[in-house]
Amino acid sequence: MRGIKVLIFCCFAALSTAGLAQRDFSQVEITTHRLADNLYYLKGAGGNIGMLVGEDGVFLIDDQFAPLTEKILAAISAVTDQPVRFVFNTHHHGDHTGGNQNLGKAGAVIVAHENVRVLLIKGIEGLLEEWAHQRRSPRGDIDQLLTADQRAGLPVLTYKDSVHFHLNGENIHAFYNGPGHTSGDSFVHFQNANVIHTGDVFRTTGYPFVDGKASGSFLGILASYEMLLEISNPDTVFLPGHGVPSGQDDIREQLEMLYTIRDRVKTGINDGLNLERIQSTNPTAEYDDRWAGGKVKGPDLVKVVYNELIYK
Ligand SMILES: [Zn+2]
Repeated sequence: MRGIKVLIFCCFAALSTAGLAQRDFSQVEITTHRLADNLYYLKGAGGNIGMLVGEDGVFLIDDQFAPLTEKILAAISAVTDQPVRFVFNTHHHGDHTGGNQNLGKAGAVIVAHENVRVLLIKGIEGLLEEWAHQRRSPRGDIDQLLTADQRAGLPVLTYKDSVHFHLNGENIHAFYNGPGHTSGDSFVHFQNANVIHTGDVFRTTGYPFVDGKASGSFLGILASYEMLLEISNPDTVFLPGHGVPSGQDDIREQLEMLYTIRDRVKTGINDGLNLERIQSTNPTAEYDDRWAGGKVKGPDLVKVVYNELIYK
């Protein structure tokens, strides 16, 4: 029995190591793109990195994957000799927060919505189990279990509704608009440059992804798109979590599509159809060519919409 357990453990260990090894970052190139006077974004692997530079230091939004930190820092130093002072996480996903620990150790202050910190802590392997075990003989706060390395990768400053940064002549308003892509999404609005980093709530690479494990919400994404339109104007540039800088029309086009899909699913539910029947009517038909190329396929989106509407 013991032998089998060891064997199973080894297989899992081998699988996860193989999973990591598959991701080869050595060929990834970080490219720098200008959005406004002192505002840029960096592309590489993972989420688009926003970067405000100036005499007050670098304000970074998201940091992709840990193996890319060196290249990201090289790309930053090609633009400015100032250090990274703040790293703002738009949400907790690893393709946006993987560089946190490196940058935190290098002295950057990591900032995020309070739920991002909770979700990142939940993702630390074995930590919740250890905490549950220790709680039996009351030991208090989970923070006390974190190592210095783990703490370096977590936001040290969190906010609940909104937070302002004032540096490099820019007013940066970061705020929470409720659950959408996850339950910890921030929009980061550079009010003078008229640029909004949307995190993964808005992407131009595929259908919206609702992270159910992190209490995301499709209807929340719709509300968030409405909010983006409300606080912007025709000149606003939206930097999506993945994809290319966009305008209000791009947000509107996606929003219209998402309302259409929602209404079709709603009609199916009102007609008494179950999920499979609604999926078979193909409510995303004319949109799949353009939007189903990523990990969210038409039927996946329909399922998310259905589950949210049916349980409301
Ligand atoms: Zn994400």
